[in-house]
Order: sequence, then structure tokens, then C-alpha cells
Amino acid sequence: MLSFVFPGNIDPKIAAMGADPIPYMRTPEFSAINLESEKILLDLIHCRSGKTIIYTGSGTGAMTAIVENYVSTKKKAIAINGGSFGKRWVSLCEYYNIPVVDFWTEFTKDVDYGKLEETICSERPDVLLCQHHETSSGVLYDLEKISEICHRYGVSMVVDVISSFLAEELDMDKLGIDICVTSTQKGLNILPGLSIIFLSGALVDYPFAHKGFYWDFEENLDNLRRGQTPFSPATSLYLQLHARLKQLEAQGGESFNIQQTRHHAEVFRAECVKYGWTMPSEHPSYAITAIQTADTEQRLIFRGLIDKYDTFIMPGGKPGFYRISHMGLSTDRELIELAARIHEFEPSR
Ligand SMILES: *Cc1c(COP(=O)(O)O)cnc(C)c1O
Repeated sequence: MLSFVFPGNIDPKIAAMGADPIPYMRTPEFSAINLESEKILLDLIHCRSGKTIIYTGSGTGAMTAIVENYVSTKKKAIAINGGSFGKRWVSLCEYYNIPVVDFWTEFTKDVDYGKLEETICSERPDVLLCQHHETSSGVLYDLEKISEICHRYGVSMVVDVISSFLAEELDMDKLGIDICVTSTQKGLNILPGLSIIFLSGALVDYPFAHKGFYWDFEENLDNLRRGQTPFSPATSLYLQLHARLKQLEAQGGESFNIQQTRHHAEVFRAECVKYGWTMPSEHPSYAITAIQTADTEQRLIFRGLIDKYDTFIMPGGKPGFYRISHMGLSTDRELIELAARIHEFEPSR
């Protein structure tokens, strides 16, 4: 099987750990592993005096946790809504009755930063929610610009880096971000099932709210201080996360992974030009390539790749729009072959 979705092709050594016997988790050994995972995670995102919470639950679970524990303590939020994940911030605020300005941005377009500043100036929100990479459209937002605006108006920044962590440069302290969130099946490229919250040092004594039992920050932080979780962790996934983090540490940090992701994107994008597919994302991330094909009627490419080649890519927001993830393991040859196979199933224009 070849996978260009989330996760992509996983390192077989880490995948094989899923078949190992599962150790009991209430032990000093398991605690030591989690404390080491926290340290490496904070190094990778450049959050020096912060904390992490590692939840058993998908990325949306951790987004929910942020809204319950943090955003709900604010008066008004603004969310950049340029696709399905930005929309999710808006929906979460609405779900918890938190006033939110829906800063709608056209699909596949970058944020209008001037308009964002005007809106913040007139609406005066005290917290901004956005993605770093809006995975549904492939657009990478300029966090430096957003950070400048937020800091000018005293707006706290919460960033969903679920699909940019380890795929794009990201320095949480330098950008002055208060909270980031990621999950295991994207940049970390291991099995889905865990999500990670990064809390900046500025929030160490923050009076978080208590609005959700499972996701409660204080309860989770209390347990994590000794490397434990309040509820049953998905033990194998925590061990796989730790092994993946040790790999990244041995590679000297995130740069190697970022370069590799970029290389995959560059190799694949050269093929896209060859086959005449447009790449509609304005300011695209290297994490995925989004292409517009002529396959607008029946998803022939999607089905053909699965049935003939046991290969997965992601159909997207509109007919004929496909996304190919670059976060998994792949060789140049596999990427060139993938493009040829997409072309094979594309109906003629
Ligand atoms: C995948 C993704 C999510 C949601 O994650 P789940 O693990 O599916 O809950 C949220 N935001 C972004 C940017 C994503 O790419």
C-alpha cells in the first residue's frame, strides 16, 4: 500500500511497535517516557518554558479542549475561516456560546492581512484562532504577519499547527503564540489517535476554565507533571510517539524532516506542471500539494488509484480537486510514478 494522506507511509519499525505486548502504564518507566516526549516536543516547536498535554483523542478533541479551557475565559474571539478547519474553530466557539467574529477567507486564497487588521481594530477581540496551514485548501498563512497584528492589539494567539508541525518552520516563542495544537497522524506521521497541546510559558499560572471533564487542562497538567494521564492512555501510541520523537531528536531536530517534506513537494510539483494540473493554493504549504484535475464527474482518479495500485490520495473541497500529502516516507521514484498514475485515470479535457 502507498499512502499520500494522513498519515502517509509510516516508518515500518514504528508501525511494527503496534504489535508489541502492551506494558502496564502506571509505572515509573512509562512516566519517564512521557516526560522525555514532552521535552522533545517543546524543543521541536521552540517553546522553552512551556508545557504540553498529550491526549488520547484526535486533533479536534484537543481543539475542543482549547476552547473549553481557554477561549471560554475570553470575551470575544476572531477565527480565520479559509476552509473546513478554520470553520471548525468558528463552529466550536458557537457550540460553547463564545462570541466569535467569522473572518471568512475565500477557499485556496491567502488571508487579506490588511483587512484582518482592520477587523481586529474595529471588533476588538481578545483571542485569535487560526490554522498555520489550512489543510483543506493547502494554503499556508503568514504567522509573522498575524503575530504582528495580534501583538499590536493585545490579542492572544491560538494556532492549529496540526498539519504544519514538522513540515514548516515554526518557532512558538518567537511568534509569541500562547497555544498550539497538533496530532500524531500529520507531521509526526505516525498512527492517528493522540493529540498534543503546547502551552506557552506565558500561561503557566493562567486561571483556566473547567468546562469539560475529559479535556480539563488543570487535571491533565497535574497528572502530566509526573508523566501520567488522568485516564487510560492509548499506551502503544504513546510509545510510538516517543520512538518517533527520539528519531527526530537523533536527526538533530525538525530541520531534516522539513527539508524532506519540501523535497517531496518539489519533486511532485515538477510533475504537476508536466501534466498541466493547476495548483490553486495561493502561498502553498509544502505539507501537501493541491491540484485541480479534469476528473470532475466521478472521482475516477481516487477510485482507480485504490483499485489498481492500492494507493491513497485525498479528494477535496470541489470536483476534480485532489490533495497529496508529502509528510509520509516516499522516494522520488514513487512520487513520479504517482503523478503518472493520476494522469492515467484522468479523463481527457
Ligand atoms: C487534520 C486536521 C484537524 C483535525 O484533526 P482530527 O485529528 O481529524 O480531529 C484539524 N486541523 C487541521 C489543520 C488538520 O489538518
